[in-house]
Amino acid sequence: MSSSPEQLSVIQQKMLEELESKSLLEQASEAAFEYIDSAKDKPAYPTPEEIGNLAEFDQPLPEFPSSGEQIIEQLSRVGSPATVKYSGRYFGFVTGGALPVSLAAKWLADIWDQNAALYVMSPIAAKLEEICENWLKQLFSLPQSTVAGLVGGTSVASLCGLAAARYRQLQNLGWDLSENGLMGAPKIRIIMGTQIHGTVAKMLTLLGFGRNSIEWVESDQQGRMQLDKIPPMDSSCIVILQAGNVCSGAFDNFEVICPLASEAGAWVHVDGAFGLWAAASSQFNHLTKGVELAQSWSVDGHKTLNTPYDCGIILCRDQQALTEALHQQGSYIQKSDDRDSMNFTPDMSRRARGIELWASMKYLGRTGISQLVEQLHSHAIYFAEQLKEANFHILNELVFNQVIVACDSEHQTEQTLKALQTSLKCWCGGAKWQGKSIIRLSICSWETTKLDIDIAVAAFIEARKTCG
Ligand SMILES: *Cc1c(COP(=O)(O)O)cnc(C)c1O
Repeated sequence: MSSSPEQLSVIQQKMLEELESKSLLEQASEAAFEYIDSAKDKPAYPTPEEIGNLAEFDQPLPEFPSSGEQIIEQLSRVGSPATVKYSGRYFGFVTGGALPVSLAAKWLADIWDQNAALYVMSPIAAKLEEICENWLKQLFSLPQSTVAGLVGGTSVASLCGLAAARYRQLQNLGWDLSENGLMGAPKIRIIMGTQIHGTVAKMLTLLGFGRNSIEWVESDQQGRMQLDKIPPMDSSCIVILQAGNVCSGAFDNFEVICPLASEAGAWVHVDGAFGLWAAASSQFNHLTKGVELAQSWSVDGHKTLNTPYDCGIILCRDQQALTEALHQQGSYIQKSDDRDSMNFTPDMSRRARGIELWASMKYLGRTGISQLVEQLHSHAIYFAEQLKEANFHILNELVFNQVIVACDSEHQTEQTLKALQTSLKCWCGGAKWQGKSIIRLSICSWETTKLDIDIAVAAFIEARKTCG
């Protein structure tokens, strides 16, 4: 029995028509196709004018409904030009592009608009997450007991891994965190390198561990934990290691640290946001040797694998610790014998990001993923070689996809970066490395070609000229 038009409000009627005619979706897809065509010749970063035009959005909250057509039109006309293009010439942060198949899968999934919280809410979301879990385990050679939760990014994935660690280590000390909370709990020791990513310290704070409670381990020139500086470990310890330093790309020595930690009963969490993918390549899995001995791992799909945003993954070998840490009850929660994904994430309702993760892995396959990793690396090498030839300094060992660049003086480095960013020919970020200003390059997009790098190197040389 369908409602008669009279019973529907005007806006509901309008929306039913929009859905049936697909007019807005058609308009959006046309705009999207135009965007793809024009992006080819556009710089990686919008011009000041294009950013200035965003002021057009500064309007009061409308009192009455607006036209859907005008909304999509405005997004396309004003919004599209002001986007940052994570394409071939974007080297800022560690920002992967998006495989065409993953965009297409996400597009379809957006129409499905699935809630991945519970199996009964979306069997298809649960099915594909389960398959992703299995495939990731195989790709990274992780233990059979490993489970996966799909979250917004590595930050939240680390939160989950560290919450599981906190639960398990307190349990070891005879303290039930779920029942008793943190007040009065035995002391947990946190051990991590000074070069750990900032998101880890942030997540530790959320979990009740202040910065002063951390036992910091000094790092070497590449940003790896110095092995002889690691304090004695025991079963009250959470040790946080890194697969891929955000500036140098360096990997901690899992082969040495993980067995020691394991023997001591310490929990090892690995921040492998972009670097854990090295484990998927026979050329690079020496970097992650021993990583499978850790208890939990965080990794992004939206960096090295080039899925669209937002796609982070927590992998944990101790399912009980993870699900206890993220426990939720409610009389209306209908659990099933199948996969209820909310047991593995902090959130309940969320979009089914496993769909594009599955599509990306299926499309590339083991070989394709391996080749992608190898291509990012060989482009990083090529980039560094071209820059060296032009008398720039490369400050790191190129083990993965990250390059640290400096000019003759700090002043020159800073000026060059500024000029480079305003040139819009490519986009790179800056940072401090061992106390000095640097330019950071991350080669993380499948789209980058040698030609992109040649253009970027020419832009580097031009930019340096601006400081005399
Ligand atoms: C990007 C990154 C993070 C944070 O991940 P998000 O996906 O942005 O939350 C953490 N650690 C490292 C090493 C990273 O590169």
